[in-house]
Amino acid sequence: MERTLSIVKPDAVGKNLTGAILEKIEGSGLQIIALRRVLLSQSQAEAFYAVHRERPFYKSLVEFMTSGPVVVTALQGDNAIQRYRDLMGATNPEEAAEGTIRKLYASNIENNAVHGSDAPETAAAELAFFFRDLDYA
Ligand code: GDP
Repeated sequence: MERTLSIVKPDAVGKNLTGAILEKIEGSGLQIIALRRVLLSQSQAEAFYAVHRERPFYKSLVEFMTSGPVVVTALQGDNAIQRYRDLMGATNPEEAAEGTIRKLYASNIENNAVHGSDAPETAAAELAFFFRDLDYA
C-alpha cells in the first residue's frame, strides 16, 4: 500500500470539475482517504512549489495556485504514486494520452487541472503539508 497527494487545481475547481476528477480517481481503484478544500495563501503556494523557485514559470505558477480554492486529497492503493501519475497524464495536455485527466480537463501546460506527487519522498512531504494523522480515515 502506498499513499500520494492529489490536488484539483483552481482551474478545474472553478469549472466545477472536482466531482468528475474525483470520479476518475475512484474509478481507477485508488481510495480517497483524506480530503480538504483550501484557498492557498501566497506563502503557502510558494512553500509548496519551492522546488521550482528557480524556474521561469514559478511566479506565474504561484499566482495560478492562489487564484481560487483547490481540493486536496490523499490517495491510497498499490503503487498509488505511479498509478496516479499515469491517470493524470503528461504535464502538457497536448502531450497527454487519451482518457487521462489532463487530456480531458486541462487547458494548457500551467492550468493543467491536477497535481500528483512524483516520488515516495515528495509524497510524504506533500501529504504532511496538508494533512495530520487525524485527517486520515
Ligand atoms: P507535474 O509534476 O506534471 O505537475 O510537472 P512539474 O513538477 O514539472 O511542474 C509543476 C507545475 O508547474 C505543473 O503541473 C504546471 O502547473 C506548471 N508548469 C510546469 N511546466 C511549466 C511551463 O513550462 N510553463 C508554465 N507556465 N507552467 C509550467
